[in-house]
Amino acid sequence: MIALQDLLSNPAIETISITAVIDTALCIGAGGSSGTLADKAIVRTADQKLLIPASQLKGRLRHECEKLARGLGWPICQSPNAQTMCPQRANFPENEARDFEREEYRVPGDERYHCLICQMFGNPALPSRIIVDDLICAEDLDNVPEVLRPGVTINRRRGTAEEKKLYFLETSPANAKLRFEGQIHLQSNFPSYAKALILAGLHHINALGGSKSAGLGWLKWEFQEFSVNEEAWQALLPGGRK
Ligand SMILES: [Zn+2]
Repeated sequence: MIALQDLLSNPAIETISITAVIDTALCIGAGGSSGTLADKAIVRTADQKLLIPASQLKGRLRHECEKLARGLGWPICQSPNAQTMCPQRANFPENEARDFEREEYRVPGDERYHCLICQMFGNPALPSRIIVDDLICAEDLDNVPEVLRPGVTINRRRGTAEEKKLYFLETSPANAKLRFEGQIHLQSNFPSYAKALILAGLHHINALGGSKSAGLGWLKWEFQEFSVNEEAWQALLPGGRK
């Protein structure tokens, strides 16, 4: 939850407009959502617009940025459990733990160290410095028929379909090229050199939703007015920071 007070005291310093263009049918899980037979439904706004929840997008973005940052040589804690995240990092052996004690991991007013990813996405002890909007589909859905896509669960041991476990996924229509739009807000104290990581992380998300293997939810991204210069990329590389 974001308190209004936090927003006021920590205004967005940069806003990135992003659009996800869904190439195939999209299935976003919302177990137990009312008003539909489907087990998993696309989330809809009160006025029936399709929506990709911010929580899902932010979770995926964090995961992709973690992988990228580790690949670049940054020591990164282990989300999502509080004990293994910064500033606790309970499970790290001593030599690895010392690697977190670096100048870039200092936060104003805090004795403890917070890794690059925690400084971006937050942890139980540090507020997130990025706000991700829900991505909303502007398409008027009166013109788009609702689709229920049947599926079956497979019994892994026997390799057979369990007929009683037929389920339905509510999806958006295939090949409709639905555009989901929203914004990402970087707040003050967001590590400026980490902006490049957000862009790279988004590029690594090429599917959203529950059933990638069923061909649901492949997407591509469009960004507006957001570019990262060579200097910013260099700053992310080990030894490239000033
Ligand atoms: Zn961390």
